[in-house]
Amino acid sequence: MNRRTFIKTTSLAGIATTLLPDAHLTSQIAHRKSPLVINTWDYKRIVPETAYNTIVAGGSVIDAVEQAVRIPETDPEITSVGIGGYPDRDGNVTLDASIMDGEGNCGSVMFLEHISHPISVARKVMEKTEHVYLAGEGAMQFALENGFTKEDFLSPAAQKAYQEWLQQSNYKRAKTDEGNHDTIGLIAMDTNGNMAGACSTSGLAWKIRGRVGDSPIIGAGLYVDNEVGAATATGIGEAVVKVCGSFLIVELMRQGKSPQEACQLALERILHKQPKYKSDEGFLVGFCAFNKDGKYGGMSYKKGFEYSVYTDGKYEVVKAESLVK
Ligand code: ASP
Repeated sequence: MNRRTFIKTTSLAGIATTLLPDAHLTSQIAHRKSPLVINTWDYKRIVPETAYNTIVAGGSVIDAVEQAVRIPETDPEITSVGIGGYPDRDGNVTLDASIMDGEGNCGSVMFLEHISHPISVARKVMEKTEHVYLAGEGAMQFALENGFTKEDFLSPAAQKAYQEWLQQSNYKRAKTDEGNHDTIGLIAMDTNGNMAGACSTSGLAWKIRGRVGDSPIIGAGLYVDNEVGAATATGIGEAVVKVCGSFLIVELMRQGKSPQEACQLALERILHKQPKYKSDEGFLVGFCAFNKDGKYGGMSYKKGFEYSVYTDGKYEVVKAESLVK
């Protein structure tokens, strides 16, 4: 037992006798042995496993989330993240990514072009600058100055889809319930309760040039707080931004809601404030979250969202509950 675990264990034991009647919860905190990794969708076992194994091998939780998210960023078959991403209306692939640790350190890039690992650039922003967000040309310049190389990428699949889209040039959001993967948002916690998260996307296909979604916006696509838990999002970014979705979930958990309840309340907030989404056929938002006790949950507006969980050496893809059945 290291010092941190000891303090946590003993102080929680003290609280448990006076304030917390839930002995099960207390013992869960004291005896959790395994890291916990959760990510949006099913990006295959290798993604959360990489984060998990990085932590088990003694790496930091911020290394863990970065290393895991780098995998889909260079998979040309994934059409919604990194180099395989579908382009905007002008045929340019533009990328958004954010990274955050549980102490509140964070970095982000948005509208970044020609750089194949936006999550690593976001980490450099976090660690090497006094800023949080870098955008567009400036973000690319910063990446080049920090050893990244400029590449041209529009994968053959993305090129084909873009050519087909150009026939009509009719913007219609891709439906997220038809097997698309969308954003990877990955959150992790080590056995000492240190948390981090990483989020990366090429955003909505055929978006207006310059459009930025929720994924690089701290508190929208991602939020992490060691005192409470972590949350991340996928789906129509505009809807998530409007309610600061991931921050809202963490704050709801701070008030005592379970991760599952908090995800549901955030979705309900979106629909309450913006009822127009109820009649929007292509609309989908999905959240997943965990709290510091290692409880986790996830939920989406419509059926079709799933999230991956890796803990105790086991990998599971959970079909999330949906608000609309
Ligand atoms: N949330 C992403 C965005 O709006 C896209 C997605 O997850 O499908 O950019």
